[in-house]
Amino acid sequence: MKQSKNLVRKMSEEKFQRYLVRKPKSIDEAFTWIRNNCVKSDSYAVDPRDDSVTIFCSARNKRPNGYVNSNGEKQNTEAPCPLCDESIETTPIILSRKLRKGVYAFVNENLYPFLTPQGSRDMIGDGIVRGAHFLIWPTTEHRDIHEISYRDHVVSFELMADLESRLIESGLEHVQFIKNTGKVVGGSVEHGHYQAAGMNVFPMRIQNDVDFLEKSKESFVKYLSRENPKDFKLKDYGSVSLVVPYFMRRPFNAIIYPNDFSVNSLRDLGKEQRKDFARATSDIANVLSRLMPSIEKEFAYNFVFHTGPIGTMYIEVLPYTQGEGGFEKAGLSVCQSNPEIAVREYRQYKQFGL
Ligand SMILES: [Zn+2]
Repeated sequence: MKQSKNLVRKMSEEKFQRYLVRKPKSIDEAFTWIRNNCVKSDSYAVDPRDDSVTIFCSARNKRPNGYVNSNGEKQNTEAPCPLCDESIETTPIILSRKLRKGVYAFVNENLYPFLTPQGSRDMIGDGIVRGAHFLIWPTTEHRDIHEISYRDHVVSFELMADLESRLIESGLEHVQFIKNTGKVVGGSVEHGHYQAAGMNVFPMRIQNDVDFLEKSKESFVKYLSRENPKDFKLKDYGSVSLVVPYFMRRPFNAIIYPNDFSVNSLRDLGKEQRKDFARATSDIANVLSRLMPSIEKEFAYNFVFHTGPIGTMYIEVLPYTQGEGGFEKAGLSVCQSNPEIAVREYRQYKQFGL
């Protein structure tokens, strides 16, 4: 078969249609599918020192790794992809939007969830942690968010807001969104994606935000927007701000927040705000894709979404610019840079230039 030179590797239309679940109210159906097909976690435990939760899920060790081969050498663009490779089976698609002919953004189930609707038991107590774990794919093309248009990327935020609503309506208390890009930060599939975990508990960092709101009588974001030095704001998108926080723990950490402090979850975002979140996340990912190699770091970062009863939602941008040593594990961060330098470096890129 003759192939065009510009042919983008992608999930075929035929494969996409094969996995598409056509019923709109599919969360319950998704839960049934997870019960019947997915791996189960073993149990969980709560660390009595800080109430942080550890979920034991030994089956996740069997996940295929799309980033590196067994010698640790990068396979790069030819890494096996659960979407693009016809021979690899994927999971039912429960939400989707067409981007253009033959190209879609969609949500499907994670074959290796750490949370399941039936739940897992507390190691020593009688509690149950339950939920569901989904993947949000910004495009069926084999790309990540720093390589796609704002117009395509905003659709991911619409899908995440829709998924969040459905999971909260199903009775789960919290939906944790994250993004792992790069092997060193926990990524196992190169094809760009976000993850969502609906659950009946709050992760510790989210509980910290809830506690901050209660203690300070204002959201963390409201506090930050007032106290953070004004020139640490990399860009104001209109409805969303992107800043380097004055307490930057690691070089180039950044925070994205809505300028309307009453927004506390993705489903509260209006059209303009979704667009500005897509622009801000695209911009920072794109800048990091060039900045990190320029300082001899592998391009790798996490996004951690902070949403829920925390006053104001925000996204933490955590590039893997420095490892964690013993002092960090004791709770003292030693940062190999400072916020002024990070801001200056970021401003070298046209997205954040003054
Ligand atoms: Zn792919």
